[in-house]
Amino acid sequence: MTLIEHHILKSIPESRFLYVKTFGCQMNEYDSLRVQRILHSHGYVITSDMASADIIFLNTCSVREKAEQKVHSFLGRLRCLKMRRPDLKIIVAGCVAQQLGKRLLERFEHLDLVLGTKGISAIAELLQEILETNERQAYLPEDEALRLPLDQHFTSLPETVGVVAPVTIMQGCDNYCTYCIVPYVRGRERSRPLRHIIHEIQSLTASGVREILLLGQNVNSYGRALDEKTDFADLLHRIREETDVHRLRFTTSHPKDLTMKLLQCFADLPCLCRSLHLPVQSGSDTILSRMNRGYTASQYLDKISLLRQVCPDIGLSSDVMVGFPGETEDDFRQTIHLLEAVQFDNLFSFRYSDRPYAKSSDYLNKVDAQTKAERLIELQSLQAEITLRKNRMEVGTIREILVDGPSRASNGQLTGRTQQNRVINFVGSKELIGETICVKITSALSHSLKGELWRQGANS
Ligand code: SAM
Ligand code: SF4
Repeated sequence: MTLIEHHILKSIPESRFLYVKTFGCQMNEYDSLRVQRILHSHGYVITSDMASADIIFLNTCSVREKAEQKVHSFLGRLRCLKMRRPDLKIIVAGCVAQQLGKRLLERFEHLDLVLGTKGISAIAELLQEILETNERQAYLPEDEALRLPLDQHFTSLPETVGVVAPVTIMQGCDNYCTYCIVPYVRGRERSRPLRHIIHEIQSLTASGVREILLLGQNVNSYGRALDEKTDFADLLHRIREETDVHRLRFTTSHPKDLTMKLLQCFADLPCLCRSLHLPVQSGSDTILSRMNRGYTASQYLDKISLLRQVCPDIGLSSDVMVGFPGETEDDFRQTIHLLEAVQFDNLFSFRYSDRPYAKSSDYLNKVDAQTKAERLIELQSLQAEITLRKNRMEVGTIREILVDGPSRASNGQLTGRTQQNRVINFVGSKELIGETICVKITSALSHSLKGELWRQGANS
């Protein structure tokens, strides 16, 4: 929004400005988008300027201790803003809100609304209530459907949508990995009905979206509790048959639920991007079992080799944790060996931290902070070498990319991603945004590639 537009809108007495700040995963990004869609349809104007907002909405993450600390310090900083502008309404949603509930209102007296993870669809009504009554409240429903149906608000989209859009296909998780807070703050696994997902994708593609990212904590268990007999592979086929989606991705997959039927989709569905995020967490069977992951390291490796047989050029990424309680030097070496064996294209790595409700918080033999830090450094430097080497192998090749928008470095370049999820920056005109084009890779950096326009059109 330009400054002039901002002043015009501010001068309209009815318009209220909403600032949204999101911490955490893509599921939270999606929930924030839902909030923006809902409040936009109630006349709120989205702003990127927090200082001038009438409503600040924070969507929070508590999956790791560090993520939760970030939320607490951000909330602390809002105290001064509220003192200067008592009419400002501050809403906290997401996992920290669900985990702490009323305690968050007690700790931060400048908060107006604490909204649990199943309360998002009631945001407009709740906001109206607190604006009218000025009463602070915590809303933590047990079941989202009690107040409003999960899909009620998906019909109203903001005017501008990007090239890529996320679509949640399920919420919650039933896996109960022993380190994880998600099942406690997001609840039991619930899949959205297939026809609702198809309908949302149809609306998005009609508005110009080219790539859809399907989201869930464990997408490959999609459909388990639905009345209609369907699974995740069926969903992918139905999306291809019934929508105009150009590219399709999904995250996150659980290795134990990765079926041959799903692997085959990478070969059979041209719109399905050839990339997979498959968190392994550890290379040690002892640790995997104590994490309750439901597979061994060799079962994981077998799935990777099957996948590479079905789809040889698949891009692979993973999550790994170091310092799980009881992790010995030998356990850690097994994780290093697994990384060397698989050669992931990209890796997200974390230091284990105790989380409320998580079973492993009570486990003995905690790994000390120094050892965790050293293990993380070793693991990350190994992966940095692997990623850079694989990126260098791309130099000189010609790759098809979907152009997402301007490059983050805002150096006048555009950015796009290959099917394998590699980021490529190149010089090109803005008309190319949303197009699939070919680029020749000219150089490799640690997290991205540079390229030059080759020719337009994937099959030209
Ligand atoms: N459902 C996905 C899965 O199974 O991988 C994502 C779960 S979580 C939102 C994302 C990552 O955070 C996990 O894969 C794990 O590596 C990490 N994580 C979860 N709990 C953690 C904890 N207590 N300490 C450190 N890392 C954690
Ligand atoms: Fe957490 Fe495990 Fe569920 Fe992922 S699969 S959200 S790590 S419990």
